[in-house]
Amino acid sequence: TALAATAVGALKEARSVVVEHEDALGKLDAIAGDGDHGIGMRRGVDAAVAAAEKSHAAGAGLEELLAAAGEQWAERAGGTSGALWGAAVTAVGRTLGSKETYTAADAAAAVNALRDAIITLGKAEAGDKTMVDALLPFADTFNKAIDDGGSLASSLRAAAEAAARAADATAELSPKKGRARPLAEKSLGHPDPGAVSFGLIALRVAEYAA
Ligand code: ADP
Ligand code: MG
Ligand code: MG
Repeated sequence: TALAATAVGALKEARSVVVEHEDALGKLDAIAGDGDHGIGMRRGVDAAVAAAEKSHAAGAGLEELLAAAGEQWAERAGGTSGALWGAAVTAVGRTLGSKETYTAADAAAAVNALRDAIITLGKAEAGDKTMVDALLPFADTFNKAIDDGGSLASSLRAAAEAAARAADATAELSPKKGRARPLAEKSLGHPDPGAVSFGLIALRVAEYAA
């Protein structure tokens, strides 16, 4: 389906931005974490793209394709962020199901499903200094923009910009969840790696949708 092809394209865009920033994300994670965020994200998104392409070639619909991509992302990334991204990708597929076309309301439902999957699995709250601090402004901004009658592309762009700004602002926060928590002081002044990668992926996918 057209939507399945778009999903494969979006995952490839995510992969290229992760590859471009792999070293920087690893260095950022090394400040207060274990330094594997770059390599973990690359392994996860590589595996997700491979699974999506394979499903697409076999004629799978969007739900099946994103379930395969999400499962592979979680399995091959091997870290916390991989499990969260895997669940998010799977949840988007489950929400959009086998639709051939979609409305603004469907797009908002997909964004909300992505948000809820990450929060349900990771249980992080706003201010814990995780990817959730980029995810919440992303979802809020997207919903507001769609409610205001914005196009999918313009709403996604506004949401991605909000996510990237919020990711930068995590530098001022002290980590409450994840591996960075025991080294909280070291992390002060540096943004959360998972929030930064979320912002980068959101911006790239928004460009792709434009
Ligand atoms: P790991 O911490 O297992 O080495 P990564 O380095 O790939 O995995 O990912 C670290 C990122 O995961 C953190 O920067 C943070 O954004 C995110 N993270 C960690 N724990 C949680 C959680 N419980 N909920 C949401 N995000 C989390
Ligand atoms: Mg790590
Ligand atoms: Mg790790």
